This record gives sequence, C-alpha cells and structure tokens, in this order.
Amino acid sequence: MDGITSSNDPSSDSMTSRDYYADSYAHFGIHEEMLKDSVRTGSYRAAILDNGHLFKGKTVLDVGCGTGILSMFAAKAGAAHVVGIDMSNIIDQAQRIIEINGFKDTITLVKGKLEEAELPIIQFDIIISEWMGYFLLYESMLDTVLLARDKYLKPGGCMFPDNARMYLAAIEDQDYKEEKINFWDNVYGFDYSCIKDIALREPLVDTVELKAVVTDPYMLKHINLLTAKKEDLAFTAPFTLTATRNDYIHAFLAWFDITFDCTHKKIQFSTGPHAQYTHWKQTVFYTPSTITISEGEKITGTLSCVPNARNNRDLDIGVEYTAGEKPTKVDYRMS
Ligand code: SAH
Repeated sequence: MDGITSSNDPSSDSMTSRDYYADSYAHFGIHEEMLKDSVRTGSYRAAILDNGHLFKGKTVLDVGCGTGILSMFAAKAGAAHVVGIDMSNIIDQAQRIIEINGFKDTITLVKGKLEEAELPIIQFDIIISEWMGYFLLYESMLDTVLLARDKYLKPGGCMFPDNARMYLAAIEDQDYKEEKINFWDNVYGFDYSCIKDIALREPLVDTVELKAVVTDPYMLKHINLLTAKKEDLAFTAPFTLTATRNDYIHAFLAWFDITFDCTHKKIQFSTGPHAQYTHWKQTVFYTPSTITISEGEKITGTLSCVPNARNNRDLDIGVEYTAGEKPTKVDYRMS
C-alpha cells in the first residue's frame, strides 16, 4: 500500500477532486499501480494459493482489502469465510467485484476504519494484509494490523505476511546527487543553497542500480508480525557497513524484504536494488559530504526512526555515522 486515506461521506460514484484528496485510496489509479506490481500481488497470490491447506475451512480477515484482491485469493484457496474491511470508498467497487466473481457468499465486506468497526466474526484463523509503505513504515498501516491481531486473531493463528526486515547499504551516486542536491548551489547564477539543505533532508524514493551499491547490506530492523508491539515501530538501530570496493559514497540506501514464513512453501520478496522492480522502489538518504572508502573499511552508525510528533504519518529519521574521523548526524523527514 501507499498513500493517505481518511474516511469520507460521498459515495464513490459522486466524488469530486476534493473527496479524492481526502480519500486517496478511492480512485482506481492507486489500486491499478498496486495490482500491476506483480512482485507484490504475485507474492501474496503464491503465499495464499500455494498453501491451500492453511486456508481450507478457515476464517480470514483482510485488513485494508482495497479492491478485494487478497480476499478473493483467500476465498479461492478454500477459506470458509473471509471478512474484508476498508475505510475507503474503493470498497464499493470491491463489493461489485466480489459479486461479479461469484464470492458474495464467502466474502463479507465492511466499510469503515478497522479501529472503529464492528465485524461479523470476532475471531479469525488468519489475518492477511498489505500494509507496507515506502521505507516500509512511511504512511504504513502497520499499527492497524497489530491492533487487528490483538483484537481478532485466534491464539495460534497466522499473519500473512509474518516477517518484515529493513536493510541499509551505502551507494555511489555522484551524477544524481549533482542533479538533485548540488543543483541548488547555482540556479541560473543565483545561490539557492538554502533549498539544498531542505532537499538533502528529504529521503528520495527511487530505483537504484545494484552496481551503485558499494557496501554489504546490513539488516537494520526485523519486525515479527506475530509479536511486534506498536512501540517497536519507533526505534534506534545500530549499523555497520563494510565496503566491498574502493569508491565514493554519496548516500545511504534503504529497502525491505517481506516473508511469509508460516507457509509450507516459503514465499518471500525483496524491494532491494538486487531484486525485481516494485512500486516501493528504494529510499535514498544523501549525505552532506562525500565519503571516500576503501575495500574492507567500515562505516558505523545508528539510524533512528520515529513518527513525527505533530503529524504521526510523517517519519523523523535520524542517521548518525562515522566514516574515518568525526561523527556526522543528519535529520531526515519523510512527509
Ligand atoms: N489489500 C489491497 C489494498 C492494499 S492498500 C491490495 O492488496 O491490493 C491498503 C488499503 O488499506 C487501502 O485501501 C486503505 O484504504 C486501507 N486502510 C488503511 N488504513 C485502514 C484502516 N485503519 N481501516 C480500514 N482500512 C484501512
């Protein structure tokens, strides 16, 4: 998932641009992007349909069902009953979709916020959800999924997916840093460098080629969906990056992997630079100055990630690192 959503009144047939702004999941375009992300949707399909034995005769809750795709996979895999919930008007289309596709009796859709809704079933064997945002946690609805787990998952029940891992590496990115950051030093002969400072603090969601990566990846954070608590989503994690060649470093790079470990046939996908394209791309954090590094040399530091105090959809990400002499600290904001 990605985008901002809030509950809204008008029906999806009479929405205006203002309504779409308030309910960004209501338009089919965002769902088109997610559905066409075949790594994403195909992984969920494989995790569900290749593990029919886990779904046969079971009750399934789909948190943030959108167009109902995951609910239909679960129904197709043999679930006894699926409840899909979504607070966006897209659920009006999902209702039509499940009816046209013959799932009216197996799937019940509920329009509303999970936190406030009353569900027709109170205990589920399996919770499925696609809750991941950029940098895993940006605008993520993981809080909602953890709440759903605590309220509705039977003891011993499964979470689909059940593990998420965030990774960090460093990259050589001279050309693009020149274009995106140093551009502000001289704009038609004028000094725009005040914008440079702001631009640097804004992580960039973009695809990065594997050949730009100049260190080993480091696993920064592991989230086990069965045990994680809301408090775990604000964290400080140490890292050590070891250079794999002599090169220059212009940025840190973050991505995440998702695994369905409760399945017999283990399914996983990565959003890293080594893996096939996904709509999450990767996240680039430019460093204020270029770091020179030799093969085998290490950069140590910590990354902290906390929801912004004024707008908890924004993330405050602090990176403190030492490469050679004195430590450097940069405060980034994803908004
Ligand atoms: N499951 C669908 C859609 C994923 S996008 C798919 O895989 O294609 C995430 C969806 O979660 C959006 O449609 C959004 O409206 C919904 N959502 C986000 N927070 C929610 C909440 N607190 N309660 C209900 N729905 C929520």
